Amino acid sequence: MKEARSAKSIEKKAERVNILLTSVYGRKERTCGDDPLDTLIETILSQNTSDINSSRAFELLKRRYPSWEELLEDSPENIADTIRSGGLAEIKARRILGALNLLKAERGGYDLGFLSSMTSDKAANWLISIEGVGPKTAAIVLLFSFGMPTFPVDTHIFRVSKRLGLVQERTSRESTQKELERLIDPEEYYNMHLNLIEHGRRVCRSRRPRCEVCALSGLCLQYRKTVKA
Ligand code: SF4
Repeated sequence: MKEARSAKSIEKKAERVNILLTSVYGRKERTCGDDPLDTLIETILSQNTSDINSSRAFELLKRRYPSWEELLEDSPENIADTIRSGGLAEIKARRILGALNLLKAERGGYDLGFLSSMTSDKAANWLISIEGVGPKTAAIVLLFSFGMPTFPVDTHIFRVSKRLGLVQERTSRESTQKELERLIDPEEYYNMHLNLIEHGRRVCRSRRPRCEVCALSGLCLQYRKTVKA
């Protein structure tokens, strides 16, 4: 009984967090989804680098290779040179080639549209079978390009969720995704995902979080434990 009450109160907290974040950062509406394969390649490029660097690398890649066939005809070295600004160029070039080759071998072309007929779990499993694609990358593709009910957990969301007490301290990143998907209304995944990231970047920063100006302090477990004490 006590456990059920506490699960309910965390759900309420998640709802309240979403309302407050929306009032501070605005509502994020998903418009029409980007091409899922573009989103996948862009997300691979974004691993371990800033948005600015990965966007530049993606732009250069698209400019140099107007079609994926043209990219596959080029050497891995040239592809890596093209995306150098995104960091880890050799590894990312290999992952991109691996994703495109797998897609071609299994589906005969370069279109991820077939994922839309799968459940989100099955679609995520298919994406995760690509080397270098983990649960976060898969969830980004499914949420942003297909509007599927998945909640990608990046480093900001992982940190802020723990500090707030939405998940327990020792929860893994993968389990954090499952927990947040259980706590939050699927209609709110897109909005809350983006607003939690914005909050993590602007206020609840990794080092020296700005608790004194935080709209969530009244709900925050870490604030109660440390700052108030
Ligand atoms: S009160 Fe501090 S620790 Fe809690 S969410 Fe806000 S900035 Fe992060």
